[in-house]
Amino acid sequence: MTHRSLPIISNTDGPPAGGGPSSVLTPSKIRTFMNCPRRFEFQYVSKVPERATTSAVLFGKAMHAALERFHVALRDNLILLPLDLAPTFANALDGESAKYSTILFRQGETRFSLVAEARRLLELYRNVALRFDIAEVEHRFEVALALGEDVSRAAVLRGKIDLLTKEPGIVEFKTTRRRPSTNAQNFDDNLQLLAYAFAHHATFGVIPAVSFVYFVRGDWPEIITYKATPSVAQFEFFRSLVEDVRSRIDSGLYLPNPGKLCEFCPYQTPCNPVIEAPPPPRAPSMH
Ligand code: SF4
Repeated sequence: MTHRSLPIISNTDGPPAGGGPSSVLTPSKIRTFMNCPRRFEFQYVSKVPERATTSAVLFGKAMHAALERFHVALRDNLILLPLDLAPTFANALDGESAKYSTILFRQGETRFSLVAEARRLLELYRNVALRFDIAEVEHRFEVALALGEDVSRAAVLRGKIDLLTKEPGIVEFKTTRRRPSTNAQNFDDNLQLLAYAFAHHATFGVIPAVSFVYFVRGDWPEIITYKATPSVAQFEFFRSLVEDVRSRIDSGLYLPNPGKLCEFCPYQTPCNPVIEAPPPPRAPSMH
């Protein structure tokens, strides 16, 4: 199987390319559509504001802000302590919180407990971070998605990579309460892995190693890393998956997909999904 490098549209945070909701895609948009087309419509087509969120989402965003500051300093050979980073985390937490009218906290959680939890995780992460030879922090990319199309009309893939390393490699950070299985990553992470590696290859012409660093929250916090190098064959799979998603988005048919993800969906009120009860257990067969 052959593979051609794709044209780079730009490498900036510029305005979106023109066109419909499929003209600029991000891993998050693709994942949202695959999970529930109706949610995609609320979020990216009608742009219904999200009024509610969870403390887990805010924690993840605030950790990213603290990690960005940590890595910028580390790139300049300065190691910041969790104590130095706590105000960055707290400010980001407050800034993100202000965007929502409702925040769902877990029982016993407070702003203070979240800051303390972040400090513990940043302490654990310090030694892991020294493995990375940092080339760039928060690398923004925008690359064409389709081969053989007029580049000005092609959909683009846009995103932001947490760290580029000199290896060459990509490092992404995740906060989670569930300890990930490093043998069988979940589909969302694999999608992100492929999207970022695909963009890196299109930009720099090399396939990078992709590392995920999981900040596992809870009573026994830990840092778990997972590393993989995608193949060209996986890029082809990614491209065909994106093309499929694009054509489904362009069809304008945004059907709801009620299920367990509705519990965490900020659009429950406008959607009002009918979530089917699980079928009753079947009587054991006598035959
Ligand atoms: S509530 Fe459920 S079905 Fe409705 S948009 Fe959200 S995820 Fe989709």
